[in-house]
Amino acid sequence: MAVKRVYTFGNGEAEGKADMKNLLGGKGANLAEMNLIGVPVPPGFTITTDVCSEYNDLGRDKVLELLKSEIEESITKIEKLTQTNFGDKNNPLLVSVRSGARASMPGMMDTVLNLGLNEDSVAGIAKKSGNERFAWDSYRRFVQMYGDVVLGMKPVSKEEIDPFEKIMEDVKLEKGVDLDTDLDVNDLKELVVLFKEAVKEQTGQGFPESAWEQLWGAILAVFDSWNNDRAILYRRMEGIPDEWGTAVNVQAMVYGNMGDDSATGVAFTRDAGTGENMFNGEYLINAQGEDVVAGIRTPQQITKEGSIRWARLQDILEEDRVMMYPSLEEAMPEVFEELNAVQKKLEMHYKDMQDLEFTVQDKKLWLLQTRNGKRTGAAMVKIAMDLYREGIIDDKLALMRVEANKLDELLHPVFDMKAIGSANELAKGLPASPGAASGQIIFFADEANKYENTILVRIETSPEDLEGMLIAKGILTARGGMTSHAAVVARGMGKCCVSGAGALKIDYKERTLRIGSDIYREGDWISLNGSSGKVYAGQVKTRMPDLDGDFASIMDFASKYTRMSVRTNADTPKDAKVARGFGAEGIGLCRTEHMFFEGERIKTVREMILSSDEEGRRNALAKLLPYQKSDFEGILEAMQGFGVTIRLLDPPLHEFVPHTEAAQQEMAKEMGISLAEVKTKVSDLSEFNPMLGHRGCRLGNTYPEITEMQARAIVEAAIALKKRGVITKPEIMVPLIGTVEEFKMQSDIINKTAKTVFEETGDTIEYMVGTMIEIPRAALTADKVAEFAEFFSFGTNDLTQMTFGYSRDDANKFLPIYIEKGILKNDPFQVLDQTGVGQLVEMGTKKGRSAKPGLKVGICGEHGGEPSSVGFCNSVGMDYVSCSPYRVPIARVAAAQAHILSED
Ligand code: ADP
Ligand code: MG
Ligand code: MG
Repeated sequence: MAVKRVYTFGNGEAEGKADMKNLLGGKGANLAEMNLIGVPVPPGFTITTDVCSEYNDLGRDKVLELLKSEIEESITKIEKLTQTNFGDKNNPLLVSVRSGARASMPGMMDTVLNLGLNEDSVAGIAKKSGNERFAWDSYRRFVQMYGDVVLGMKPVSKEEIDPFEKIMEDVKLEKGVDLDTDLDVNDLKELVVLFKEAVKEQTGQGFPESAWEQLWGAILAVFDSWNNDRAILYRRMEGIPDEWGTAVNVQAMVYGNMGDDSATGVAFTRDAGTGENMFNGEYLINAQGEDVVAGIRTPQQITKEGSIRWARLQDILEEDRVMMYPSLEEAMPEVFEELNAVQKKLEMHYKDMQDLEFTVQDKKLWLLQTRNGKRTGAAMVKIAMDLYREGIIDDKLALMRVEANKLDELLHPVFDMKAIGSANELAKGLPASPGAASGQIIFFADEANKYENTILVRIETSPEDLEGMLIAKGILTARGGMTSHAAVVARGMGKCCVSGAGALKIDYKERTLRIGSDIYREGDWISLNGSSGKVYAGQVKTRMPDLDGDFASIMDFASKYTRMSVRTNADTPKDAKVARGFGAEGIGLCRTEHMFFEGERIKTVREMILSSDEEGRRNALAKLLPYQKSDFEGILEAMQGFGVTIRLLDPPLHEFVPHTEAAQQEMAKEMGISLAEVKTKVSDLSEFNPMLGHRGCRLGNTYPEITEMQARAIVEAAIALKKRGVITKPEIMVPLIGTVEEFKMQSDIINKTAKTVFEETGDTIEYMVGTMIEIPRAALTADKVAEFAEFFSFGTNDLTQMTFGYSRDDANKFLPIYIEKGILKNDPFQVLDQTGVGQLVEMGTKKGRSAKPGLKVGICGEHGGEPSSVGFCNSVGMDYVSCSPYRVPIARVAAAQAHILSED
């Protein structure tokens, strides 16, 4: 059978339907569907997204040949339904040529209206409609859009506006009118002449008169618009694949610009900001296409209620409102009735909030588009739950309606939308940790208390900055990616962070921050939007989001349908409690090194590092033991009996010594040794490649006394808790193993230590010893490792680093470019690379369980809170995922959704 490239719709019939979005694009599929359910839609046809790929592969001539007969037949169909003729001068068919991809990309690609007009047919239309002004208004719009979209008219410089708009402004000025509707026929005729001259001047081309030439030009231009800069950028942001391509919709025109009984508008079946169940939208009388969105005139509200609310915000008196800005409900009551019925019908049909485009021609309503409306996180949750309560969807579907990532918006303080509109944007970085923060600039973590609200501004942060980060309201770094220290820690804290803002020039000495030619000093106010990565000057008002009952209900649905459980990565009882509040069931990663930094402990740690022999180290470790023990007691207790995975010391030791001369001096003084001695030790510890150096279990295997101390602290903490009636089962995790021997040696030390403590205390507890799988070799030999290990936790941050061979700390230099060039689809440190790294995860899990059936397997990398990665973890049969506290709700929803999808 021949390939079908064109699908027609019209007069209540359609060759496509709603579930053919992949082939017809969202717009085309829904135009077909609206026909099928009796909503008035002008007739037309859709050229499939496959043709877009053919066009890219085969070139224009071949594609024109392939499409020719189908398009000619489809145009004939529209001609019959509308009783007009394409290209005819007395009774011409005019069409719109519209883009429309699978996923909605509002305004990113191009559309041409009123196609088919030329010097002759404009007269025909004028005569037929008896409305010369309308005819010429349509023509000038067509010349403008066709010039922009097909002929490539552009502003002459980046400071200039669209050349047509400029001409329009000049003509309005010359005629002394404010609004486009005030221009008369002669003005419009003059505009057309000027527009065409401008085209000739800029492009050297004459304006095509033939309707068919216009049509083919527009179709190809819409395909081309798939690859315009805006569209490419939008796809990057939204993760839409480049291969999808756009469909092209050709549709008979209906005219909202025929006079005062005509109009065009956009509407939402519910409020997209708050979710409130309130039909709302805007329209303009005697207007066409994007006029409403473009803000050519002040748009009017669709419902009377909306109009009254709007007028109140604008301080417009009720009499003036009714006179100047009546709602559609008041101005055209019958049309409103019909529109209201249609919006209800569409929402019931799609069972979701709809975003509609409509046009009224001489009091007759036409729908031009419907799609599931974009909405805020808050609106998303409320709408899903309202639809559930209204009995329109069940609990499973309500849960599926939640876009897990968007839940994040609900968990952090947010900027007041109004305030942000008028704020002065200084720079843009990565949206490393969502939320909003305003504060005074400080450059040093230990000065985080200098003002009441501070923003810590650093080139990058280090573990030493932890405390300051905790105090600051937000963190801004010039370097570092989404898994940089600052980003990971900030997310863990639920603290707003913008990382990698490359435009920042930070001078620690001068205590200044330079952005372009502007200089900001310590104490100056700035504001960060961690959800967009934007940095603003001054103070922008924030507010706390509301976590009302709807949020909790969605979480209950998640618990009902999930197979995996969700744990959290937490190093302190405080974090553990936050995560419990969000429904975390246990800790998947408790990093013990953070405990080494607080207060006096760092001194003891340094004493251990400086020791030249085992005895010296043991003495220092003995001083650390009580601290660690009480840390573990706190954290085990906070998790109330849920599993807690504690990782033994992991980072290279050089992270615990100071690197500035001043701090080294201070350390020398504190420890009663010479500066030279400190310097020697620091340089001894420095490595060419610390991430592949002396760290992880390599520390515990070369200094077994460290493992001994930590194991003792854990077991003693659990026994102390048991005495208080709190039963826990710590899971002791050995980091960074590559061979089973590395693991065995550590696990022997742990077991021996536990035995000793049991004998000393005359009491026992249950515990497990397992390992992190984060070196490819560990995954490859997982069956060997599992003979001894009691659980696996995939450390996908390191596993990604080592599988790709990308240093996490340096990847920011090339990853953004790789993504821009399409070498990588995503940042693999954010979205688990299922094809590569995922193989190791899957193989590791399978091999592990082949040696030890029922082996407990989880993930504790940053990926454990990223929805698509969580889905992957579900598919390989993991028992749990673990993520930072503020991502727990996201992971819970993603886990439940993955399970629901796997059962369908
Ligand atoms: P986008 O995807 O950017 O929204 P559209 O293809 O939806 O672009 O078209 C832009 C505008 O033109 C919309 O307001 C739409 O309602 C209007 N429009 C498109 N086709 C027609 C048509 N056949 N008759 C009247 N208006 C149309
Ligand atoms: Mg549209
Ligand atoms: Mg690691």
